Amino acid sequence: MSVDQNAKPGTLYVVATPIGNLEDITFRAVRILGEVDLIAAEDTRHTRKLLSHLSLSKPLVSYYKDREAERSEKIIAELRAGHNVALVSDAGTPAISDPGAVVVALCHEHAIPVVPIPGPSALTTAVSVSGFPQPSFTFLGFLPAKKNQRTKTLTAHAQDEALLVFYESPRRVCQTLAECLEVMGERMVFVGRELTKLHEELLCGTFSGVLQRLQAREQIKGEFVVVVAPQPGLSVAPPEELQDLLTWYKNHSGLSMKDAVKKIAGDLNLSKSQLYEKALHVWAKK
Ligand code: SAM
Repeated sequence: MSVDQNAKPGTLYVVATPIGNLEDITFRAVRILGEVDLIAAEDTRHTRKLLSHLSLSKPLVSYYKDREAERSEKIIAELRAGHNVALVSDAGTPAISDPGAVVVALCHEHAIPVVPIPGPSALTTAVSVSGFPQPSFTFLGFLPAKKNQRTKTLTAHAQDEALLVFYESPRRVCQTLAECLEVMGERMVFVGRELTKLHEELLCGTFSGVLQRLQAREQIKGEFVVVVAPQPGLSVAPPEELQDLLTWYKNHSGLSMKDAVKKIAGDLNLSKSQLYEKALHVWAKK
């Protein structure tokens, strides 16, 4: 394609797409995907399925992590030729633990307009249903693959007053929760599995409680986001979580009510008498 250097540049639209449920796409995203000249996609086959669901057909160019720099040059050439380009990843918001930042930075450098088309992200989806009332969170993306690096990262954030949020694979989620317990001590944690999908699951409890529930499964499948609450004393678990936790201890721990109250109060640095009152209601239920 020849490039007219004098042409008004096109716009790069950074478009969020669903993280599972295809209904989770905005009207604006659908309109933009229908209007642009070209779509830069992390995986063109994956995006073709989404486009077909939306009854759209567009030229696609692949834009993936290992070739970000090279593909960005191509996309910049298209934009400079006056073509509008939408950037999408396989799921969620581009450039959030996904390719995208390189081409966006180049656009800023070349004064090419960039327009965000916000929408789903596994990060915000998980935080929104974690039930932890902290005003801030630290997003760690994927934790390092090497154990010693992971321990270093977790140790560096162990005293944070913000929530810690990270993405995790089904293969490693139990190991990571065990490492969290080892490094940070007992805490409340929220684990979102397969969010917005058919097998969506919201797991909430202590590290050891959630770990036990996951380890009891024959197989661990799906996509995971982990949200870790700050150390006990910095936050108090909201009442509904305590209710869930007590219910879980009643049904699965094999502990008596008294011992469950003792364990939870110790783990979370809570008052035993207040917990005892809640526990009486939980144990009274059939
Ligand atoms: N850019 C994406 C976003 O905004 O959510 C994230 C891309 S990152 C490569 C993919 C990771 O996000 C998965 O490995 C998983 O940890 C998390 N994730 C994506 N979709 C998810 C879902 N439906 N439920 C839980 N976690 C999900």
